[in-house]
Amino acid sequence: MPALTRLAHRAASAIRALERVTRPQDPEVAAALRQRWAELPPHVKHRSQTIGQRIAGCEGTHGVFPKCDFACTPCYHSRDANKVRIDGEHTVSEIGRQMEFTRRVRGPGQYAQLIGGEVSLLGPDDHAAALGAMLEHERKPMSFTHGDFDYDYLRRLALNPDGSRRFDALAFAAHFDSLMFGRRGIPLPADERSLNPFRAHFCAMFARLRREHGVKSHLAHNYTVTPRNVAQIPEVLRTAGRFGFHMFSFQPAAFVGNERRWKDDYGALSADAVWSRIEAGAGGRLPYRLFQTGDERCNRAAYGGWVGSRWVALADDRDPRDLRMRSALFGTLRGIDLAAPPAVAAARLTRAFARRPSSVPIALGWSVRFARRAGLRELIRHGFAPVTLVMHRFMDAADVGEAWDAMENGDEISDERIRETRERLEACSYHFSHPETGRLIPACAQHAVFDPEENARLARELPL
Ligand code: SF4
Repeated sequence: MPALTRLAHRAASAIRALERVTRPQDPEVAAALRQRWAELPPHVKHRSQTIGQRIAGCEGTHGVFPKCDFACTPCYHSRDANKVRIDGEHTVSEIGRQMEFTRRVRGPGQYAQLIGGEVSLLGPDDHAAALGAMLEHERKPMSFTHGDFDYDYLRRLALNPDGSRRFDALAFAAHFDSLMFGRRGIPLPADERSLNPFRAHFCAMFARLRREHGVKSHLAHNYTVTPRNVAQIPEVLRTAGRFGFHMFSFQPAAFVGNERRWKDDYGALSADAVWSRIEAGAGGRLPYRLFQTGDERCNRAAYGGWVGSRWVALADDRDPRDLRMRSALFGTLRGIDLAAPPAVAAARLTRAFARRPSSVPIALGWSVRFARRAGLRELIRHGFAPVTLVMHRFMDAADVGEAWDAMENGDEISDERIRETRERLEACSYHFSHPETGRLIPACAQHAVFDPEENARLARELPL
């Protein structure tokens, strides 16, 4: 082949590759979104719904490292979870099996939680291999931890033995609240405030990792809410809100998991009561109806961040112009993966807006409104530190078990509470992969129905 023809072929294939990587929407993701939308129950098919319009939903691993070395009250893991030994080989092969299935059903680029017992009980190499298995199946993994590990562990996870970077970025969700027992240095926290140095230390480890090795991080903070610590939410947010976490997720406790760890009346906390405490910490009303994920009785999320000492929402769900912006955003950015290298993300955005130029003035109008709401001078002075505020309300195991049985058997449900449980399960946004049956199971059903049997089996197969 003459040199000129070879050059032309190479240029053509480079252009094709560039076109593919900067394509705003992956065809598999588009198909998964259509499928998700079609499967949603009517009561959540509204304009704010992110599932099927923006994302396919969230995924998690199960039965891959059930053991934990803390003793929290409550604990969502079944009694047998702590009888299963940590086994890196089992973890990695099982994750591969589960993620291969979600990749097939949900397409590439979806968020997946590396979750089970305590992830840091895996050695750094096994932990890295588990993340590698998730990345191999094009998931965006986030490791779930109690956060009680040292910088050396984090460094060995992030770097290869020769000191080169194993990951460019890591995502962690760390659980910190005063209902957790066993943390080194503070085994029995007196209150939430006394945990703040530990929250700060956790974030500082990741800041150091970036400084010394250039590994970026995305950090979430989890907090179980019970009548004992609900009043302390504002103080936690006001203080730990600036430590470097990018998300705070508050999870009102439910009667699920190990019943020996249940304390207090968890039913005494209403969704509004908890949300009002989160609002008190953020310093104002939190608009959660602009974007809703799944069922509102399960999830609330407010998107925004700190501008100086104020948390400012990105948009206002009472402003019709922001509601128009939301529709334009769903139309323009449907299924686009912006968690890519900046140049690729910018190219995808440019192509997306080029396809829908009418969205450009809407986006510009929104940015002016946001700058006004935040205060231009304040924005220039302090910048914007994005922090998403979330509430996720798991359900009681007894209700889930009853609703799940009725769903499986196709039975009518007369009880209003169980009917609500079924509606929420049908609209679930957080699933676990069961390739052996070809199903994705809602996390509530996983914990209430599947975990006890699964952990009992694992305790036999992987005894301590
Ligand atoms: S896991 Fe449970 S609480 Fe969470 S979205 Fe699914 S059904 Fe709702």
